[in-house]
Amino acid sequence: MNLYKAGGISDEVYYYCEDRLERLKSRFEEIDRISEVNQLKVLLAMQKNNLSERHFQSSTGYGYNDDGRDIIEKIYADIFHTEDALVRPHITCGTHALTLALFGNLRPGDELLSPVGKPYDTMEEIIGIREQEGSFAEYGITYKQVELKSDGSFDLDAIKKAINKKTKVVMIQRSKGYDSRPSFSVAQIGELISFVKSVKPDIICMVDNCYGEFTEEIEPSDVGADMCVGSLIKNPGGGLAPIGGYIAGKTSCVRNAVYRLTAPGLGKELGASLGVNRSFLQGLFLAPTVTASALKAALFAASVYSDLGFKTIPGPDESRHDIIQAVVLEKAERLISFCRGIQKGAPVDSYVTPEPWDMPGYEDKVIMAAGSFISGASIELSADGPLRPPYTAFFQGGITWPSAKFGIMMSLQDMYENGLVTIN
Ligand SMILES: *Cc1c(COP(=O)(O)O)cnc(C)c1O
Repeated sequence: MNLYKAGGISDEVYYYCEDRLERLKSRFEEIDRISEVNQLKVLLAMQKNNLSERHFQSSTGYGYNDDGRDIIEKIYADIFHTEDALVRPHITCGTHALTLALFGNLRPGDELLSPVGKPYDTMEEIIGIREQEGSFAEYGITYKQVELKSDGSFDLDAIKKAINKKTKVVMIQRSKGYDSRPSFSVAQIGELISFVKSVKPDIICMVDNCYGEFTEEIEPSDVGADMCVGSLIKNPGGGLAPIGGYIAGKTSCVRNAVYRLTAPGLGKELGASLGVNRSFLQGLFLAPTVTASALKAALFAASVYSDLGFKTIPGPDESRHDIIQAVVLEKAERLISFCRGIQKGAPVDSYVTPEPWDMPGYEDKVIMAAGSFISGASIELSADGPLRPPYTAFFQGGITWPSAKFGIMMSLQDMYENGLVTIN
């Protein structure tokens, strides 16, 4: 308690937050149980592939015969139960991984379908929903979108109608991203994939798996997804991967994607690992417990803020399928204060005051709190939100649970000190 006080947490905030933890005990046990399953999955995949110290070595230039790079991809494929995987530092971010997966597998005249409503903000420019040079629209790749029903469920009739002879790829975003719809469970995604394939069996089902990895015992590739795609500065990088993205899926799908990353015909044999192999592997090894910390943090935030009367998505009693916690704060000042508090709780740059800015790829101004070891890593304690009503803070990450807990307390402390909330 003294240390919390030294860190700037008042008695009111401390006791209020501690009280919220009581009722989360059984949920925390469930999170630990899932993390145990995933830890074993990762460990056994490493053992099966005879991971060894020599795999931590680096390569330069073309990167031929980089055994470490190759074993990382085998381990990912085993964890995701897929035929193949592409896991590279040359994949700049999650958006880039998704772009490779899509551009690699779509051809002019094909159509992309999102059956789960609007995709993640940065995808709009890739697809050409917002005009952008180099978008699919420019290449003659068309796009259709089917909204979710008002209760958040899939509109199967409309999806069936939207599928036509041009439909080549169906893109399913697991996590809500910057939206206020629910995130989907792997089981729900499986039902959707089965339905889509019953309408047209040769459709490629790609899941935007960002933020979802290791939050459940299985991944979308266990229920029929042809590709799972994500970022290594989120869950699977475990806080240690300094960059990167992955695509785990069918051999043909992964090959098409790597022909975009390198060049047609060159494929997976190229790509120097530049010293990242050990951080990719060690990060992956830590990822199940790191994801569990982030899940606990999200749940704690939901409990703290819903008891203060704010809408939280998901609510503290709902099931979780990703590490994002949305808190609807209803006022721009609260959103800004929330983010400033999270920043104050960070291990790096805790003295910095975040300001809203025009972030590339996003339509509205965005405020971001991030004091991370890896720049922009959202598996580390971070919060952000577009400055648009209803002023929702999207909180995620926390590579250790106690530090994330402190960050969330700090977010409340900042609002409390600024008279933006009352604690009773
Ligand atoms: C983070 C995220 C992305 C894009 O990832 P970046 O690494 O920021 O490019 C795409 N989809 C979802 C659901 C995400 O959460």
